[in-house]
Parts: sequence; structure tokens; C-alpha cells
Amino acid sequence: MKALVVDDAKVVRVTLGRIMKQIGYEVLEAADGAQALEQMEANPDTAVVMLDWNMPVMNGYDFLVELRGRPEHGSDPKVIMVTTETGMGQMLKALAAGADEYIMKPFDKDMVVSKMEILGLEVAEG
Ligand SMILES: [Mg+2]
Repeated sequence: MKALVVDDAKVVRVTLGRIMKQIGYEVLEAADGAQALEQMEANPDTAVVMLDWNMPVMNGYDFLVELRGRPEHGSDPKVIMVTTETGMGQMLKALAAGADEYIMKPFDKDMVVSKMEILGLEVAEG
């Protein structure tokens, strides 16, 4: 099972990556939306994308729109927004664009596990 962690902050990628490894995922990383699209092209079997909103080059929202518009990627990963953009308008915009769940920063392992379970994604004991 592959999880793609997308955030321009390395500390977030490391922290979130560690959580995803603990619950059984192989972790891929990207520092912006453009890198994330490249990772998805190389890893179309990715099960879940943990997605920041505010990033340089291509932000999380633009990545999401692009991803959902490219069914040729061959997979339909779950997308969990992990962001400080938690206004109702932002949330509805992301959900309308194809996000499946929303986690507000700062996050912890319990919040991640809870959202993964809501989406029916595998969570290994660890
Ligand atoms: Mg950011």
C-alpha cells in the first residue's frame, strides 16, 4: 500500500510520513503539486494522498483538480486534505473538487487513523 505525502514543509512530510509508515504504508513524498503529479504518474497504485493546500509551484487545490481530471492515471486514490485552510468555503471547494476528507493542522496519529478508517482504508496495527 502506497501513501503519497504532499507538503512543502519537510517537517510535515517527515512527521506525517512516520505516521503512515507506522500504520503499514510505503511512503512517497512530494514538495508541491507538480512533484505530486509526477509521483502519481510513476505510482498509479497509490491508495491515499495526504495533501497540503498552500505550496509553491502548484498548490494542493490545483493538484487535486488536475488529478481528478486524469482518469488515465489508472487509480482513484483517496485524498485527505491536511491543511490550515479550514474555513467552510475552502473545505467545500476542496470537497467539490474531489477531496474525500479533511484534517486540520496540527494533526496527530489518532486523527489520521480516524480519517483513514472513515474512508475504509487499511490501517495496520503498529
Ligand atoms: Mg504548505
